[in-house]
Amino acid sequence: MNRRSFLHATAAAFAFGPRVSAQTIPSWPTELRELAPGVFAYTQASGPGVDNASLSNAGVIVGADHLLAIDALGPPVHAKAFRATAMKALGKPFGRVINTHHHRDHTNGNCFFPGAEIVAHEYCREATIAQGIPARPYEDRPQWQDGMSELRLAPATETFTGTRSYRYGDLDVQLISLGPAHTWGDVAVYLPKRRILFAGDIAFYYVTPPAHNGQITTWIKAIDRVLAMDVDVIVPGHGPVGTKKELAETRAYLDLMVREGRPRYEAKMSPGRAAADIDVGRFAAWTNPERTAWNMVRLYAEFGGRLRPETDVTAQNAAVAEYNRLKRPRG
Ligand SMILES: [Zn+2]
Repeated sequence: MNRRSFLHATAAAFAFGPRVSAQTIPSWPTELRELAPGVFAYTQASGPGVDNASLSNAGVIVGADHLLAIDALGPPVHAKAFRATAMKALGKPFGRVINTHHHRDHTNGNCFFPGAEIVAHEYCREATIAQGIPARPYEDRPQWQDGMSELRLAPATETFTGTRSYRYGDLDVQLISLGPAHTWGDVAVYLPKRRILFAGDIAFYYVTPPAHNGQITTWIKAIDRVLAMDVDVIVPGHGPVGTKKELAETRAYLDLMVREGRPRYEAKMSPGRAAADIDVGRFAAWTNPERTAWNMVRLYAEFGGRLRPETDVTAQNAAVAEYNRLKRPRG
């Protein structure tokens, strides 16, 4: 099938309704925000046009004698600011950190919580060790370099698979494994009594979800599990605090990837070209749009039965380069 007839065929078979104008996306602040008694979200400022890479969120649960952190952020300046803000506001030290998955913007900061137990899925610990600390972390971000020499590898000290729970005062804090989804070791933290879920990177709000370590079809199933849970408030791994409404949008984007990716895979279109060719409609305003190219690489591997937990860096970089070349405005 040539490109023109391919496009006509897909337009007929895979159109997803009338064109919806791009979403207006909000800005959100860096803040420690109380969601319920003893439960806080920590978001990092971002918004339209801001590269959201490494601007992840965290959470805090207040116990009788210590604080529980949900993720430790990445660059030292972020991890230290989060830790100091929470300790000052809540007047207690951190005794436990839960890593929702291994990506550096969630685990690098572990070393700035000395003495705390670090809890993660078994796969998350292995992947944290395997990825290590790069020689020149965040070298393209001069504004994040303070404290970089203090960065040390600090993988989980305690691991599990399946589920685990802790008590913090009257709160039942449930850790639920949801991978393979965004990674093979995703964990969400659920507070049934408060109807709050810290979703980690299962949830991206107003930021393009990257599946560079993920499996998109099972990620959609993980979201369906969350959508069926008794939850009112969701803290995403990236983006402002929201609800199931925004999580359904994460799902809709991933579902679009599968529906639009499949025919392009079968037509042997390259992943980078497929990403540039897909009309993402209302998701076009989300930041980091080039991640659609990563997502095509992962989907193609899944369709071809060769998907592995590790990122195929060479293929991902090539796909993004091709995507950027094709998307660049012609001058
Ligand atoms: Zn991640």
